[in-house]
Amino acid sequence: MSRVLVTGATGFIAGHAIEELIKGGHDVRGTVRSLRDPARTAHLRRIADSLDGSLELVEADLSEDTGWEAAVAGQEYVLHIASPFPAAPPRDEADLIRPAVDGTLRVLSASVRAGVRRVVMTSSLSAVSSGRPRDGERSRSEEDWGDLDRSAPYAKSKILAERAAWDFVTDHPELELVVINPGLVLGPLQHAAARTSVALVRRLLNRELPAVPQLGFAPVDVRDVARAHVVAVEAPGAAGNRYVCAGENVWFGDIARMLSEEFGPQGYRVPTRRMPYWMLWAAGRFDREVRLGLDFVGSAELASSDKARRELGWTMRPVEETVADTGRSLIELGVVRSRS
Ligand code: NDP
Repeated sequence: MSRVLVTGATGFIAGHAIEELIKGGHDVRGTVRSLRDPARTAHLRRIADSLDGSLELVEADLSEDTGWEAAVAGQEYVLHIASPFPAAPPRDEADLIRPAVDGTLRVLSASVRAGVRRVVMTSSLSAVSSGRPRDGERSRSEEDWGDLDRSAPYAKSKILAERAAWDFVTDHPELELVVINPGLVLGPLQHAAARTSVALVRRLLNRELPAVPQLGFAPVDVRDVARAHVVAVEAPGAAGNRYVCAGENVWFGDIARMLSEEFGPQGYRVPTRRMPYWMLWAAGRFDREVRLGLDFVGSAELASSDKARRELGWTMRPVEETVADTGRSLIELGVVRSRS
């Protein structure tokens, strides 16, 4: 049993990581930006209580020094999961990049001072592959890095924050670092806040899109991502490594068809028609993120999780199960309009 700090406890992945840690018998402390609204953390208290686990919540913001010293005090491990993940790109990319990079350095510096053994950081598959050509054959892996010049602000924030973390531990070898690079994270929500990545499924179930762009993703279940983090905490040989955790390419249209099969009988009319390129091109005139995505229309997102399987014994559940469970939880929590 260890003492583990989880940053960004209110988040989608962090909530599942906290649940997994408590199930493993660990004592958990989580950071949140503010404790003022108890509704934002009620689900975590409920999970901890139902598992008879130990959970303490403290305040710390990635953009401020205050709170980090106290947050890491007495902790053996840190899961640094917090990072800005806005639904829409900010007007100034620095608003996203600065907290991601400076916040990571705050967490790592405080960890060194407190004698933390290992930090497991959540980076992203975008730090591995963003802006790189998808040639349909080459599978991206831990050897690869995204191209800053051809990346949207969010992907840039992940590339720069991960690089900053590796540079930091080069100067502070007493701190172990493991990085997890997940693909598109789907799976059940623990509370009714539609986080950025599951919004894709919400849009389909709510029929907020007229058709589906031919975009490829490498999805992964939030419960499997959480497990990868927890395994990485204590896996002896993991220090100094990045681990891609992502499934095989799935087209947006495949996700739509899975949802249609599962939820069509309940009255959900999920759009499955392919969106013509010109429609996406037109949307890209007003939205830079869409514009950057235009290069990838029709090309698969190929990523290899072989290293995580080999070294962490990591496994992934089938994508059909992940997609169905995402939809079910969005319906049960009322995030998606009920058809019954
Ligand atoms: P969420 O938006 O659900 O969680 C992000 C968390 O970061 C929230 O707890 C949020 O707090 C916190 N946060 C954001 N800005 C700050 C800040 N300035 N100070 C303190 N905390 C902050 O996203 P996910 O759970 O999906 O993402 C978690 C991590 O996983 C991120 O690092 C993300 O980049 C990474 N990731 C996610 C993927 C996905 O598909 N979901 C894929 C690959 C990587 P608050 O609730 O107060 O906003």
